[in-house]
Amino acid sequence: MNGRSRITILGFTDSIGTNTLDVIARNADRYEVHALTAFHRVDVLFDQCCRFKPVFAVIPDQKLASDLRDRLKVHGVDTEVLSSEQGLIEVAVDDRADTVMAAIVGAAGLLPTLAAAKAGKKILLANKESLVMSGSLFMTTVRESGARLLPIDSEHNAIFQCLPAANVTPQVKRLILTASGGPLLREPLDRLQFVTPEQACAHPNWRMGRKISVDSATMMNKGLELIEASLLFDMGAAQLDVVIHPQSIIHSMVEYIDGSVLAQMGHPDMRTPIAYGLAWPERIESGVSFLDLVEVATLNFESMDLERFPCLKLAMSVVGGQNSGESAVLNAANEIAVQAFLDELIRFTDIPIIVEKVMEQIGPVSAHSIEEVLALDTNARRLAVERIGS
Ligand code: NAD
Ligand code: MG
Repeated sequence: MNGRSRITILGFTDSIGTNTLDVIARNADRYEVHALTAFHRVDVLFDQCCRFKPVFAVIPDQKLASDLRDRLKVHGVDTEVLSSEQGLIEVAVDDRADTVMAAIVGAAGLLPTLAAAKAGKKILLANKESLVMSGSLFMTTVRESGARLLPIDSEHNAIFQCLPAANVTPQVKRLILTASGGPLLREPLDRLQFVTPEQACAHPNWRMGRKISVDSATMMNKGLELIEASLLFDMGAAQLDVVIHPQSIIHSMVEYIDGSVLAQMGHPDMRTPIAYGLAWPERIESGVSFLDLVEVATLNFESMDLERFPCLKLAMSVVGGQNSGESAVLNAANEIAVQAFLDELIRFTDIPIIVEKVMEQIGPVSAHSIEEVLALDTNARRLAVERIGS
């Protein structure tokens, strides 16, 4: 082939996926698109197939897939369209691609991301839910297959940039994750029950999908990120901290035992972590504008208020535990509760209540295989749906 790195993007139609395509297009001498997967948005899939000419396109709906095949044929694009459930796995493990961007939201991303890990791919991990669900099972798969896991979540990417290349974990005292505080940081506590999906999704600094936007408003996102950090960097709960930093300029920090704190800074634009993941250990242009510190002028920090953010407290209760089963339960109940809130079936303040009740109902639990993780996920979803219905 032509020496360019071949990239498969699982879930390319939204924020992470489109930012990835933007960085790839800016660096077309180094990267080419191997496969694109979409869920519903067939028009976007058609446009990007015409533009990037991937070998594969995946869309689950058979009718949409068949229409797409016809349209691509008329336009002379010979991308192969897959529509089976297996399609995501097929493209995740295909020999001809070296890198897989895991950008599907939620548990739907687990099996293809895990398949990419088993196949020893370089995985750019945005889909934090898959790691939170499968925990150490995922990390063991990565180690055993020789896959390379590069964090795309901005906090973890920042920490990865601030850690030395060699494994010197004992010299690290703490990882400090920053949190913007989301759109509801200053909302009076007694008004939180009236928050609408539009308000919850109006993040002050980042433009993201609706699920992660709600997670940022409840701060469940930071909780999932603590679990993610614990797994990626092998840190216990006592070595993980969160600080509110409303400007989102410092993306996270590493504190060392000598008192040094290394921070990674930049505009809040996911193209920076994506570019770093793609090019690591080198760097490439991302299209992100350069930081003018004089214009930024002020960086503020505040401590986290767990009364305001009960979801964070719930997630903190399972960070660093051996029982990845509990994080799978937390994640599943949260996915159902967030969707119910977006569908206006429950209030914003019901989200932590549903997650807590489902966690209590299932109780302490561990998962020793992916089948057990999936069974817990199904059970937790069922219980959450029952609670919403009652
Ligand atoms: P998003 O949440 O809108 O959706 C991403 C993709 O998931 C879409 O392309 C969609 O096609 C696909 N998808 C949804 N349901 C699916 C299903 N059942 N089967 C197959 N595909 C499905 O977009 P996003 O904001 O880009 O988030 C993607 C992931 O990246 C999430 O896990 C999120 O937590 C993580 N992440 C996002 C950001 C960000 O800035 N957007 C930052 C850090 C991490
Ligand atoms: Mg993040």
